Amino acid sequence: MQTELAEFIRDSAAGKEAEAILRKCVHCGFCTATCPTYQLLGDDLDSPRGRIYLMKRALEGGPVTEKTRLHLDRCLTCRACETTCPSGVRYSRLVDIGRAVVEERTARPPWDRARRALLAFALPRTRLFGAALRLGWLVRPLLPAPFKEKVPARPDPAGEWPAPRHARKMLLLAGCVQPALAPSINAAAARVLDRFGISLVEAPGAGCCGAVRFHLNYQDAGRDDMRALIDAWWPMVERGELEAIVFTASGCGSTVKDYAHLLAEDAQYRDKAQRISALAKDLCEVVPFDALPAGVASGRVAFQSPCSLQHGQQIRGMVEARLARAGFVTTPVRDGHLCCGSAGSYSLLQPEIAGELRARKIESLQEGAPECIATANIGCLAHLQPAASVPVRHWIELLDEALARKIPA
Ligand code: SF4
Ligand code: SF4
Repeated sequence: MQTELAEFIRDSAAGKEAEAILRKCVHCGFCTATCPTYQLLGDDLDSPRGRIYLMKRALEGGPVTEKTRLHLDRCLTCRACETTCPSGVRYSRLVDIGRAVVEERTARPPWDRARRALLAFALPRTRLFGAALRLGWLVRPLLPAPFKEKVPARPDPAGEWPAPRHARKMLLLAGCVQPALAPSINAAAARVLDRFGISLVEAPGAGCCGAVRFHLNYQDAGRDDMRALIDAWWPMVERGELEAIVFTASGCGSTVKDYAHLLAEDAQYRDKAQRISALAKDLCEVVPFDALPAGVASGRVAFQSPCSLQHGQQIRGMVEARLARAGFVTTPVRDGHLCCGSAGSYSLLQPEIAGELRARKIESLQEGAPECIATANIGCLAHLQPAASVPVRHWIELLDEALARKIPA
């Protein structure tokens, strides 16, 4: 696409990157076929092609209005369009740049600013979020049904975390909301990997990966979170004792794999970020397939592949293969490439679109009559559970329970 960026951004690193991305887009529209918001709303400005056009106009110095911001806000950043695009357009990188410019040049209404600021403040703070959740559990029985759904049910206890005893060591990110919402996920991951001779450890002081604030368009604050996490991890990384950094939430894994890019302009952190990104692995990449005992499990499972896994990290089929080897019957999932509507804080900010996408996703997940829905990301799990008629679990919990039943540790 012919592009002439405006002076205010032309010579910056972001401007050069945006220009290179824009030039790759041939406006063919193939991406519209897999865009959830275009499918739902039918407006070209709610498709990747339309949003690219809006961002091009903004970056070329054209008018930027609330309407421009609305169409960018409605994007889930699910990255399905990147998987589909035959020209290799990195839409997610362009939308980061476009959103920053549009945010700067428009004024959100005070209520919108306030709720975004509240989410950016509360979600990455594990203790604060945990305290708010405990309060929610106290009042949950008294709430009317529509509000009850907003407070997740009390989770199962975490269970035992094996003491580190193996030479092979991997670092695990606890995550910001996951320890309160589902503490059993990370403990299950530690138990499963312990069986395969890998000790999973956490770093003291490790906080949010930065995704929450970055995607709420507090991009500088998000990068601060990234730098703080690198600082917390660095002593262990430097000692060279870690084989990998593991994520049980694919959203965090996708973000950390992108640190090398997101901190590329930071001379102080650039090299560290590259090293961290190279070490980052989704859990399914480190649970060994060949060593998994076959046929220890039974039951029908529908796997909801989070966008951050299949589009963000381009990992497909690995979880399903591990579940099937263990003995689960994985049921077919129609339109598995489409987002469930969770998308970080999107479900809180765009509840109508998120609710409709969830209803569609639940319908397709439950078509194969599964006894359980499995996922690989805490956001999707918390979003889907209230609407599902079967339990929604992290896949590692299913594997952990199957192994514990058949093969005592
Ligand atoms: S982003 Fe890719 S698929 Fe979409 S219009 Fe541009 S070139 Fe075509
Ligand atoms: S990231 Fe997802 S919602 Fe956004 S334009 Fe691409 S396909 Fe559509």
